[in-house]
Amino acid sequence: MQDTFKYKGMRKKLINELRDKGISSEEILDAFDRVPRHYFLDNAFAEQAYTNMAFQIGSGQTISHPYTVAFQTSLLEVKKGDKILEIGTGSGFQTSILCALGAKVYSIERHKPLHLKAKSILHKLHFTPRLSFGDGYKGLPMLAPFDKIIITCGAPRIPEDLIEQLKIGGTMIIPIGEGDEQQMQRITKVSDHELNVKEFGVFSFVPMLEKRVK
Ligand code: SAH
Repeated sequence: MQDTFKYKGMRKKLINELRDKGISSEEILDAFDRVPRHYFLDNAFAEQAYTNMAFQIGSGQTISHPYTVAFQTSLLEVKKGDKILEIGTGSGFQTSILCALGAKVYSIERHKPLHLKAKSILHKLHFTPRLSFGDGYKGLPMLAPFDKIIITCGAPRIPEDLIEQLKIGGTMIIPIGEGDEQQMQRITKVSDHELNVKEFGVFSFVPMLEKRVK
């Protein structure tokens, strides 16, 4: 896979579309400019990589729409050096956007083939997140606490173990709901016993499932 002027041009168009849809952070738009999305897709889809579409990435999973990635990233309000846990590495595209923004990223994927593929692409792009093969419901207790947590699959409930692994004052961005649609929520951990929840509209993710799959 190569990055060419053609793909760079298509990327600029996508960035303008994201801007029109309300993504205003220049840092996020610049991260989209620096991460070639076509690297994360099968060759067959490369020509459409810069349209606002989701695609199959194997193991019955999909790469999220660019707008969804940009929107979740905006809600996360990433600062350089933030220690961020992502659940659902999938293709690794969202992981790369967080790395491009200067975050220290930890990401968990429950499907081994996806975990391995993402590892190889991220290495090629010279990003250095810590990728784990495991069950995101459990998080990474040994590496907690995290400044922020982003969940990129539809969760039936707020995963309690992950709230425990969030810093006081930290935020979790999570699509909550069963079935095809979820409500995007920003959860702030006000104290060990108090959460503040805000809703940001309806999205459609693949489900967050328990246990890892080889
Ligand atoms: N961030 C990804 C989105 C991929 S779709 C991207 O940019 O491509 C969501 C991913 O979450 C899928 O790959 C799915 O296998 C994974 N997933 C679902 N439940 C999980 C769990 N409990 N732990 C870790 N990953 C999970």
